[in-house]
Amino acid sequence: MADIQRNPKQQLISELHNFAAVGDKIQLTALLKHFPSLINETAKNGWTALMYAARNGHFETVQVLLEKGCDRAVTNKSNQSALDIAKFWGYKNIANLLTNLMEGQEPVNQLTSEAREHENYFCRTFLDRKSEKRIESKWLNLKQKQPTSVYILFSNLRPLAVSNEGDNSSNYPRVRLLKLCYEDVKEYLEQTETTTVIFLGVELGIESQVKGSILPTLNGNDPDEDEDELVAWFVLSIDSSAAEEFIQKHQDCYFVHPPMPALLQFSENEAGIVAQARSVLAWHSRYQFCPTCGSATKLEDGGYKKVCLKEDCSSHVGVHNTCYPRVDPVVIMPVIHPDGNHCLLGRKKRFHPGMYTCLAGFVEPGETIENAVRREVEEESGVKVGQVRYVSCQPWPMPSSLMIGCIAFAVSTEIKVDNIEIEDAQWFSREQVMEFLNKKNQSAFFVPPHQAIAHQLIKHWVGMNASL
Ligand code: ZN
Ligand code: MG
Repeated sequence: MADIQRNPKQQLISELHNFAAVGDKIQLTALLKHFPSLINETAKNGWTALMYAARNGHFETVQVLLEKGCDRAVTNKSNQSALDIAKFWGYKNIANLLTNLMEGQEPVNQLTSEAREHENYFCRTFLDRKSEKRIESKWLNLKQKQPTSVYILFSNLRPLAVSNEGDNSSNYPRVRLLKLCYEDVKEYLEQTETTTVIFLGVELGIESQVKGSILPTLNGNDPDEDEDELVAWFVLSIDSSAAEEFIQKHQDCYFVHPPMPALLQFSENEAGIVAQARSVLAWHSRYQFCPTCGSATKLEDGGYKKVCLKEDCSSHVGVHNTCYPRVDPVVIMPVIHPDGNHCLLGRKKRFHPGMYTCLAGFVEPGETIENAVRREVEEESGVKVGQVRYVSCQPWPMPSSLMIGCIAFAVSTEIKVDNIEIEDAQWFSREQVMEFLNKKNQSAFFVPPHQAIAHQLIKHWVGMNASL
């Protein structure tokens, strides 16, 4: 009682956290009924009730807290959200619950949810690419004209978007794709000289509605395969003058530019679509002629293949990767000091002053991921790397890299920067790195934003041995 009189609020907060940590949802509910304002209160270490419930695997308590409207985005002093904590301690059901709710969705099937746990920005998509449909031109033509089909527009690799102004509570995502239908884009589709059409896929989760997929038709014929209720998505690239005209007519939208950081302002769901569309369109604009003989080409496979128009071109014989969209593998890695408590980050001259990040570089032909990591780190910083561990990857549509995120374990410590690619590299302590993760551009040192895999890899390292 004496304690309560001395600091009643603090006492109540620690009681709430206690109920959350042991999963006592009845007591927790009762307490919040009387003191609803306590829900997002933090302990000295920045932990909320939600984090304590997540840390200890109390699924139902997490549910109760979410129903009561607690804030999932709060991070503790180690820059971890409740989701990070649930993932770290292996409570997949809780991680799924938090992940799905963050996107405003109902929890979906286990496989999809588990896959989501490791997603970086640009990784998520709600489309099934349906690559087997790319060769069915009849089906594609039909889909193009269906009123339910969705079109997104690009011009000069810039996606057409609208601002998310309605939502004042948070400023992310700041933009969303403008979705159009066949009627809106009909005129562009007719201008085949200047318009590029790519089939992106169909919306996931409506497979079961495909007509005739289960029941045979009355007359015993095969059901018409062209008729289904799949919602197809296409991206159209239009030329600059058409884009200009479009903007004049629809003043609430714009073609997002410059790509960085504008492309990081979409929701996670739309970012995956932007990545797919932009990389394929970039391939089209950069490889307009046959790379083998320089002749004109035509598009096939829903925009996923280019075929040389010269009859005797050697690209018609055998398999040629020049006919298909390219993906350029890049390794990216924080380098861990042999003491386990420091991490090597570097910076390029063109970076904002104060920004440090993971070293990175293109994988060369005939090279493994591990060797690319070792070579890049040694070239750029002089540090030798032993073990390399893969963590996660990220498509990076500038224009079509695949960032392969690894943790590199150093076997030497002396730094000698190359001064060509890297102007400075330093060993930073875990505490310093935690500070960088929390800070924005205005501070002396900072790392890239959360949408960049570099941020996630650094965060991953911070969480590897941190005492939670
Ligand atoms: Zn050719
Ligand atoms: Mg390099």
